[in-house]
Amino acid sequence: MRISEVLNSVTGGVVGSEVTVRLGVTGLSRAGKTVFITSLVANLLDRGRMAQLLGAANGAVQAAYLQPQPDDTTPRFEYEAHLAALTSDTPHWPQSTRTVSQLRVSLKVQPSGIIGRLAGPRTVHLDIVDYPGEWLLDLGLLEKSYAEWAAGVLMAIEGRDCADAFLAYQVDPAANYDEVVAQELAASFTTYLHAARDAGFSDCTPGRFLLPGELEGSPALTFAPISEPQSKNRGSMWREMERRYEAYKKQVVQPFFRDHFAKIDRQVVLMDALGAIHRGPQAVEDMRRAMADILTAFKTGKVGFLASLFGVHRVERILFAATKADHLHHRQHPRLTGIVSAMLRDAKDRADFSGALTAAMSIAALRATVEETLAHDGKPLDCVRGTLLDSGKQAAFYPGELPDDPAKLLGPAYDGADQWLGEDYQIMSFAPAPLTLKSGDGPPHIRLDKAAEFLFGDYLR
Ligand code: GDP
Repeated sequence: MRISEVLNSVTGGVVGSEVTVRLGVTGLSRAGKTVFITSLVANLLDRGRMAQLLGAANGAVQAAYLQPQPDDTTPRFEYEAHLAALTSDTPHWPQSTRTVSQLRVSLKVQPSGIIGRLAGPRTVHLDIVDYPGEWLLDLGLLEKSYAEWAAGVLMAIEGRDCADAFLAYQVDPAANYDEVVAQELAASFTTYLHAARDAGFSDCTPGRFLLPGELEGSPALTFAPISEPQSKNRGSMWREMERRYEAYKKQVVQPFFRDHFAKIDRQVVLMDALGAIHRGPQAVEDMRRAMADILTAFKTGKVGFLASLFGVHRVERILFAATKADHLHHRQHPRLTGIVSAMLRDAKDRADFSGALTAAMSIAALRATVEETLAHDGKPLDCVRGTLLDSGKQAAFYPGELPDDPAKLLGPAYDGADQWLGEDYQIMSFAPAPLTLKSGDGPPHIRLDKAAEFLFGDYLR
């Protein structure tokens, strides 16, 4: 049990207590982690827009403040710089997540009810841990040998246009190891991984090749999948690639999971579902598979191999949140939620996942648009209006009509369709809107309070 309750103060006969909850925030690059954490913290400090967070709405949360984080070796999440970017006179999106970082928000909570009042106020430390989703998918590597990983990758990427250059690079796996060849091969594989991610694929391991964090330029990242030779002589290309892969697992993947991931109590996984829908059926199918992989990563039962590595600890709640819902008129929000919920159901089945409480939602951590209904061909068209990121001009935007029945999207995605039939889904990049905040109000959002209620609301009552 991670949540440690420590009786620590006796004031006027009232016993106060402290509770620490570690909230993991993850998602692939550009999913919206930085904006989510910045807006969440700002909305916890100024709770005027947090009506669905019950402890905030009923006054149980009496105060919230930032504290030095307990973990000296992890970089601090740069909250102030990110908030300044979003709230400046010329608002702009902050620098995205590149590595793991942490922030502690402490909330003074006076529980309601007679027993709660007798017990006195307690302090809930919310330790928010931001980490790239790309690293999370590396967990799958811990269970795979180099031979298994390399064969799986080579099979998956065959036929992907973005892999052509890497696959054309000929290496004799039985030949003597050559550092120059290894470096060129790893560079070519890294280029492929970036292209694959840009094309919407999320099965992109090793995660540090995409977001190296402090390992930028390190030899730990000089390997790539190659085909298995008949004879694997010492000193061969294959043997050295295998050795480096194992070193990556031991020196990079395991420490990350031990120091950060294995301690998480509650987890939110942010997903740019609208972006995937825009990119097409393959990207949606890939997102669905990634969700199952992520759930597998959280399957830390008594018998799980993670438990054997890091001890038994189970994440208690996992929220899958489709971000940037402000790209859609609210009439379509239930459909987006329906699609993510259906993906989650399927991912749970595939991962044979049970235990933690799970939920799916559609949210916008920072609302950058307003709604507007235009007349189009004599019919009303529900749009959103915002400032375009490229041109700085105002524009109304209609992304397309999401289906009422999620199967209409997930079916073709599962069946390997190349494109959607009938509907075209657009996406647009909006700049954050200039803010004039009333005293006590945080930045505008959509359902961030509901997400917070699911994730840690039970500690604030
Ligand atoms: P990260 O890589 O997961 O940290 O992603 P960021 O938080 O940096 O978000 C990536 C980009 O997504 C931002 O630069 C914005 O363009 C966009 N974005 C993120 N959250 C929102 C949101 O709530 N609304 C809108 N309209 N765009 C968002």
